[in-house]
Amino acid sequence: MKRVTILVPCYNEEGSLPELYAELCKLIGQHPAYEWEMLFVNDGSVDGTLEKIRQLREEDHRVCYIDLSRNFGKENAMLAGFDHARGDCVVIMDADLQDPPSLISDMLKAWEDGYDDVYAQRRDRGKESWLRKQMSLFYYWLLDKSSRYEILRNVGDFRLLDRKCVEAIKRLRETHRYTKGMFSWIGYKKKELVFDRGDRTKGKSHYSFFKLIALAMEGITSFTIAPLRFATILGLIISLFAFVYMCYFLVKTLVVGDVVQGFPTLIIVVLFLGGVQLLSIGIIGEYIGRIFIETKKRPIYLVNECGLNEETPADGH
Ligand code: UDP
Ligand code: MG
Repeated sequence: MKRVTILVPCYNEEGSLPELYAELCKLIGQHPAYEWEMLFVNDGSVDGTLEKIRQLREEDHRVCYIDLSRNFGKENAMLAGFDHARGDCVVIMDADLQDPPSLISDMLKAWEDGYDDVYAQRRDRGKESWLRKQMSLFYYWLLDKSSRYEILRNVGDFRLLDRKCVEAIKRLRETHRYTKGMFSWIGYKKKELVFDRGDRTKGKSHYSFFKLIALAMEGITSFTIAPLRFATILGLIISLFAFVYMCYFLVKTLVVGDVVQGFPTLIIVVLFLGGVQLLSIGIIGEYIGRIFIETKKRPIYLVNECGLNEETPADGH
């Protein structure tokens, strides 16, 4: 019997859990041919999420959980889930029912057809401000142009991964995680399913505008060194102009003589170059900062308590 793990990272989701559990039970009822496991990763919630999960596990042993020692963020929580999942395939979904469980049936079908990574693509982005929509369009364009891997638009983390893919992701143990990019990076046979994403019913989104910007930075810096190259190219172009400018002044001074003039030019050049230098240093700094954090080799998450059906040999990171 093939085993399917449903992996749900939860952060302050006590309101959504009962409904999610009911929906999942309905889904599981439709697929008796599989052995199911619902793996909740409690990502340091401060509300009653853990109690809710414990309660569910007491009644139903298909429910498993991992309680992290604090809030590590969804990306890290997902890795914790991958490390402890026992399924032949793993379905990742949000706790807030924005990802319709009914789509999982189609994902399973595609998986049976031999696809390793079945992802759900939103038909549209739902309720979002115009500015946010434009920015996300621009961001994907930038990411697409600057990296070699195709990072898909309107695709969240809702997907089914074969064991192969899970093992591959488990080997990527960087501290700064951009899982969306990792899914592209690992490759394997992919298939997309289109769906309509609903709006969150209970609680509110954990991703503020600034958190999204931080995630966007993560995406760029962890998947491409294009900004560094951009700094190099900008430096080259400016040097070239500077050289031409120098020749012009050299000849002018020799021919016309030395006339002290051109304060505006001077100040513009100084300021402009200063700006470009600071920008470049900033870009380098972003990468050095990441090297610094990565070299510490800290664990990506810490487990406080587990409720699993059998001990899984976690990677111990
Ligand atoms: N989440 C998490 N840790 C966090 C933030 C979010 O595990 O630090 C979980 C959250 O419980 C939910 C999923 O990640 O199951 C997606 O979060 P949310 O719905 O807030 O994001 P959005 O749907 O707005 O992208
Ligand atoms: Mg959500």
